[in-house]
Formats: sequence, structure tokens, C-alpha cells
Amino acid sequence: LMNLTKKLIEIRSMLLSIDQNDALKLPSIVVIGSQSSGKSSVLEAIVGHEFLPKGNNMVTRRPVELTLVHTPTPPGEQPSEYGEFPALGLGKIHSFADIQRTLTDLNLAVPASEAVSNEPIDLRIYSPFVPDLTLIDLPGYVQIASLDQPESLKEKIASLCEKYIREPNIILAVCAADVDLANSPALRASRKVDPLGLRTIGVITKMDLVPPEQGATILGGNRYPLHLGYVGVVAKAVGKSKSESTGDVVKRRENDFFGAHKNIYGVGSLMVGTDTLRKRLMEVLESSMASSLHGITNAVQLELEEATYQFKVQYNDRRITAESYVAETMDALKARFQTAKTEFRKPVIREKLKAMLDDKVMDVLEQLYWLDKRAKELGELAVESRVQDVDSYWKHKLDAASSLLTKSGVGRDSTLLVADGLRAMIDSIASGEPFNFHPRAAERLISFSHDILRDRVGVAADQVENCIKPYKYEVEVEAQEWQVGRERAVELFEKEVAMCETKLKDIRKKVGGSRRLGSLVGYVRNLDGQEKERKEKKLKSLSENDAEEDDTDTIPESYRYPAAQILDAKHAILYTDRISILKLRLAALKSKRCKAGPENDVFCPEAFLNVVADKLAYTSTMFLNIELLDQFFYEFPREIDSRLLYDLDRKEIVEFARENPVVRRHLDLQDRKDKLEEVMKQLNSLSTLRADPQPKSRRN
Ligand code: GDP
Repeated sequence: LMNLTKKLIEIRSMLLSIDQNDALKLPSIVVIGSQSSGKSSVLEAIVGHEFLPKGNNMVTRRPVELTLVHTPTPPGEQPSEYGEFPALGLGKIHSFADIQRTLTDLNLAVPASEAVSNEPIDLRIYSPFVPDLTLIDLPGYVQIASLDQPESLKEKIASLCEKYIREPNIILAVCAADVDLANSPALRASRKVDPLGLRTIGVITKMDLVPPEQGATILGGNRYPLHLGYVGVVAKAVGKSKSESTGDVVKRRENDFFGAHKNIYGVGSLMVGTDTLRKRLMEVLESSMASSLHGITNAVQLELEEATYQFKVQYNDRRITAESYVAETMDALKARFQTAKTEFRKPVIREKLKAMLDDKVMDVLEQLYWLDKRAKELGELAVESRVQDVDSYWKHKLDAASSLLTKSGVGRDSTLLVADGLRAMIDSIASGEPFNFHPRAAERLISFSHDILRDRVGVAADQVENCIKPYKYEVEVEAQEWQVGRERAVELFEKEVAMCETKLKDIRKKVGGSRRLGSLVGYVRNLDGQEKERKEKKLKSLSENDAEEDDTDTIPESYRYPAAQILDAKHAILYTDRISILKLRLAALKSKRCKAGPENDVFCPEAFLNVVADKLAYTSTMFLNIELLDQFFYEFPREIDSRLLYDLDRKEIVEFARENPVVRRHLDLQDRKDKLEEVMKQLNSLSTLRADPQPKSRRN
């Protein structure tokens, strides 16, 4: 049976790592007792070493899942004892003082505000001197709420204990002999969940503090009968020398003490001494485990079936690993990047730059021509083809316009336009699946792509600016180019007219029809006239009186219309004026003179500027391609390899994969299924182990 417990303890640890589901629990022994009842002393006597945190206020703050593993010493070797905290990955700890220190640290890590934590500490002790046992040490019941213990602590501990003393666990209730059992919080808690005392074993400590007759009466257990009985101990280890283990000292003291009262403690079936306690605990745990075997096998079988079914249904039995996920993610990223690359082919870029330059051309035209009071005159000149010579005023205008366009920072603007496009592309990759699940990786992705851009943008802008330099001085226009530019200008103007008309229509609808808008516009134009007059008058009077009058902001008497409508009217005026000038220019662009060829550029600045814009776009695209895009697309995939997931260790790879909830669920279910399968295998091997002797005995 010995082997069975050992195996079941292993299985129990595996089950604990699967989940905390009550159905999947094999029994353990839960140690409860009030503070100072001698709980630590008992545990240390069982282990044979001092290893629990001591000191003022150093109560256990987290449950300790203590697994004792009996490891026989191989013949001819020194006995070796060590502990392990599997969750911490510290390896074997051979010094019990170090174990004690680690436990102290783990306890102190619980914030004072919380006082106790539900999260168990997993501690395993391997030794030839320990039995195979699992014990759970819980925070001691607090008797008196002292000043530095929060009010709620008592309840918190009580609820924590209640969670652990549920079935199928065995309760080890520690009570001091010198305290009336009626007052023992441990027994009280046990009675709540185990009223018949079927799975509670009592440990009476400090037997040396009461007269033997009284001690024997307690152990007799008549007052509070427990099916598993009471064991009396003298667990305190005092006066031990360095070479002695706690276990030895306790043993000697107990032998002395119980030996001296053999007449009382040696009779009947009274159980005394730590050795007896250990044996008793082993027996109790063994039989409890054995009787749980059937139930747990069924429960695991059920869980396994469910997990297998889910794995089939949800994932079609497809297995994944964190590594494969990482590799797939990287491949997908590169593929995604390749597709995105096509958005940056030369024709696409050229078109984007042209659109940007078209806007610039419109701005230049507005600034230099549309707002010019003589704009109408130029239109007439173009249409009246008789006129041969043209005012030098318009020649200067054209030069100014061309220079405004070529010197408007095309290098910088076009580089930024493309860089912004690249940034937006990276941002959309980083914020889309699966990087939305991996904020740190997404951040790195963004950060190194920005690094590349930062490195290139300055150089690229300078290069582009350099290459378009010739156009700042002279632009030669071929007849063919002129035609294209002129047609394009017509197209743009017609679009602009249509746009203004739509806006105008919207306003008309908004204010309630064209008549209404008409009267609004009339009113506002009139108002503007008055305003102008008023200002002129004031200017005059100011210069005459040289005195300041405070009527600068006087509001014209009464507005007949609401302010919002006045604003609408103002916009309507703007659009109407814009349409009329655009139409004038359209007529010019369509005139014979404009159609004739580039020698008429003065009359048709729109066609000319369009050709210039086209040339600028073409040249900029070429150099941006070399200086920015090629570099970026070359460096980026290399950075992915070297900076995104380079030198991740196994742990980080798993962490990364688990950031994705879909992958996490997949991995979790797969892991659960694997573990349950392993547990099932172990359980099956146990039942053959148990089934084996039976046929033999039958044969006998
Ligand atoms: P815990 O707070 O329940 O863990 O109790 P401890 O194990 O720390 O013991 C509380 C106090 O009782 C300590 O001073 C121990 O030395 C003392 N003590 C524990 N067991 C015995 C015992 O069997 N006899 C005597 N006389 N004192 C003991």
C-alpha cells in the first residue's frame, strides 16, 4: 500500500496543477489550530527540522502545501535531505534555514493590507526520514484581534480554513493540553464540517504542561469523540545542540516524558508521541487515498472525456505550440508587409504626390490670381486672341507662381507624405490581429519602424529637394505636356466648380430655398457695404481728431437674421464668387489661345503650373523610391528578425503566445487534456497494481 500513497501523492500534485476543481482533489491532511497551540512545533517534529517562519507577528500568511517525499538512501550513500519550491524554480535547497528564509520572504510578500492570501505556497521536502505525506499548513486562528491585526483578519482566516477543511481532506486539529478542548477553535471548525468526527484527527500538544491523569482523560476522547482518535505529543524542541535534529530532540524528550508516566500513558490504546502521530497520519492518509481512488478515477475519466471532446470539437484535434505560433505570427507579418508594399509602387506614389501638388497649385492660383482684382482682365486677354502683347504684370505673376510652387518645400512635404503612409501602414499592422494581443511586440514594431524612418527622412527630403532644383529656375514644356496639363487643369477646375455648387446647394437647402438665400445674401452684401463705409469714416475722423473713440465694436443696430444664417450667407457669397472666377478661367483654358501651346503660358497659368506639378511629382517619386522606400523595405524585414522576437527564451515565447486569448485557450485545453491523459495513465497503472495480488490470493 506504501507505494500507492506515494503514487497518489504524485498524482495529487499533478491534479493540483490542472485546476483547483474540488472534484479532482485527492485528500491531503490540513493542519489547523489557533496561534500558539503548537502547530508549527508539530509540523517541524514530523519533518524533523525547524523550517517554518518564526518571530513576532510572523504568522503564516499563505497556505503552505507541504509535500513530504520519502526518498530511501541508496546503500553506501550519505542520506540526503532537501526542499524544493517548484513554482520558484530555485532548484534543490539543502539547508532548512534557507527554506525557512524563503518561506519567511514569501509570507512577508503578502501586503500588510491583505494580511492573508489564498494563494498556496508549494513546498516539497525529500528525505529518507520523512514519511510520504501531504500536509497543508494554514494561517493560525487568531484568538485575540491584536492592534496590528486588521479587524477582518479573523474572518478571512476562517473562510480560508473552511475552504481547505472540506472533503475529502483530513483535518488535523491541533489543541494544547492546557487549554480546555471546549475552547479549541480547531475542534470547533472541524465539527462544523465533520460533525461526526469521521475525518478529524486530534493532536494534543504540550502534554507536559498538564498532570498525566488529565492528559490521559483528554486522549481518551470521551468528551469530543473522534473516529480517528487523539494523539498526545510533547513537540517543543528546546536545548538542542547544533548536531542534533529537531526530530531527535523531540523524540528524546517524548521518550523521557511518556516513559516516566508509563503507568498511565502505556496502558490501553492511548496514542502518544510524534512517531505514533506520523504512523497514524500515514495510515489515515493511505486509507483515505485508497478509498478516494475509485472516485477520483471516475472524475478524471469524465474530465478527460470532456477535454478530449472539446479539443476535437473546438480545434479538430489540431495541436499547437507556443513556438509554432510565434513562427506563424512572424511569417504572417512578413506576408502582410509584402502586400502592403504594393501600396507603395511608383505609380501609386506618383498619383498621391500629384494630388498633393494639385492642392498646392490651387493654393498658389488662389493666392496670386483669383484674389487679384485684375483677374477678369486676364480672362478676357486669353479669349480675345487679337491681343498679341501682354502686360509684364502677368509675366511676373507667372514667374512668381511657378517659384511659389517649386519652392514650397516639395522635398519635405513629399517625403513626409510617403513617410506618413508608411507609418500608417505599420500602425494598422500593429493595431490589427494578432498584434492587438501583443502590446509590447506592437510597440517594438512601431518603435523600430519609426527608427528606420527617422534615419531616412532627412536624407530623402534633401535628396528630393536637390533633384527638383532645376525646376526652380526653368521649366521647359513640350507641346504634348502642355496639352495634358491643360486638360488636367480643366478637369480640376470643373471638379472644383462642381464642389462649390454642391456646397452652395447645401446652404440653399439649409436656409430654406434660393429666395431666402437671395435676400440673406443681399442683406449681408449691403451690411458689408455699410461696414466698409463706417470704417472709412472712422479712419477719417480718427486722423482728424487724433482721439480714440470707443465705438470700435459697436454692433450694427439690429440683425434681421440669426447669426448662423449670416454665416451661411457669407459662405454662399464666397462660393458664388469662387464659381464665377473659376468659370472665367475655364473659358480661358478652353480658348483657342490656350489650346495653341506652351508659348501662351502667361494667359493660362493653370496649364503651366499643372505641367510643373507633374514634373515635380515624377522626379520626387523617383528619388523617394530610391532614398526612402527601397531602404525601408529592405531594412524592415531584417529588423523583424533581429529585433522583434530575437533571443526570446522559452519562457518569453510562451508568455508571448499566451497573450493571444485564442491561443491561450487552445494551449490551456491541450495542456489540460495532456495532463489528464497522463494522470489517467498513472491511475490505470495503479489499479493494475492493486488488482494484481487478488487473482494470486484466489489461487492460494
Ligand atoms: P503555533 O503558533 O501554533 O505554531 O505554535 P508554536 O509551535 O510556535 O508553539 C507556541 C509555543 O508553545 C512556543 O513557545 C512553543 O515552544 C510552545 N510549545 C509547543 N509545543 C509545546 C509542548 O509540547 N510543550 C511545551 N511545554 N511547549 C510547547
